[in-house]
Amino acid sequence: MTTKLPTYQKDNVQSKGKSRLNSGEVALVGSGPGDAELLTIRAMRFIEQADIAIYDRLVSEEILALLPQGCERFYVGKEQAKHCVPQDKINQLLVEQARLGKRVLRLKGGDPFIFGRGGEEAEYMLARGVSCHICPGITAASGCTTYAGIPLTHRGVAQGCTFITGHIQNNGQLNLPWQSLCCPTQTVVFYMGINTLPKIAEKLVEHGRDINTPAALIRKGTQPEQKTYRGTIGNLAELVEKHNITPPTLIIIGDVVNQLTTEQLTTPGFLDAKNYTSQDTNQKTNQEINIIEQQAKIA
Ligand code: SAH
Repeated sequence: MTTKLPTYQKDNVQSKGKSRLNSGEVALVGSGPGDAELLTIRAMRFIEQADIAIYDRLVSEEILALLPQGCERFYVGKEQAKHCVPQDKINQLLVEQARLGKRVLRLKGGDPFIFGRGGEEAEYMLARGVSCHICPGITAASGCTTYAGIPLTHRGVAQGCTFITGHIQNNGQLNLPWQSLCCPTQTVVFYMGINTLPKIAEKLVEHGRDINTPAALIRKGTQPEQKTYRGTIGNLAELVEKHNITPPTLIIIGDVVNQLTTEQLTTPGFLDAKNYTSQDTNQKTNQEINIIEQQAKIA
């Protein structure tokens, strides 16, 4: 049975009640990790209707270029510990702009509800009578690992995956449920952990995760500058120093890191069969598979 997929038409917005952004409303939209091709159709519809876009540092240039002509831009980007515009001011700005009768686009990197404070913004707006549409985005953990050739789960290797923040808490501590992050068949992805990496590595090992567990750092995932650094829990901190790795970077811990490739993908998101060497010693090499297939044809 074939299913007819909905076709995306630019001027279809008016008839699509679901993604219609009315005057005085806000659309809280996840823009994904950077590559504009990872935007959802719903996100694109909201982008096209916006009178003003209020956006963060993690929203890529490529995505900003999709804003309609005449759409006002308001940058409220944040860097760790040095907020351009404090969160309460961002909240106020959203309400203020909606009350002016604008169609407000609140664009956030990744998914607004994953380490994005989207929930806080929505609460603030709703409490003041401003309605908002919510639109998920591909979160960094999913987009960046996939574009780096790392499957977050893999049968027989990783049965689950945890997304967790490595950002230091207000009390200056990094209190995480370390024990729960040490199961060898679990992938762990740390957001905002680059500055606390030595502590993260130390705590994981202290709570029983093998120091030789494969680990990776992905910087600017899904973007043209995407870089993946592979190592182990034991040498990640050295990699950061050696390559001077700065945010935005994700930390991935688990055996899945080397499952499909150990290479830097020259085109993010493209696994080239020419470069494939199986990590599984029980599996046949490409060359062996070709020979077997040819022999089968002859027979
Ligand atoms: N809401 C976002 C996360 C915001 S927290 C989401 O769902 O993806 C910010 C952290 O996300 C960064 O410090 C970094 O750890 C990670 N991150 C976001 N985009 C990234 C990218 N393109 N490449 C690598 N890490 C990224």
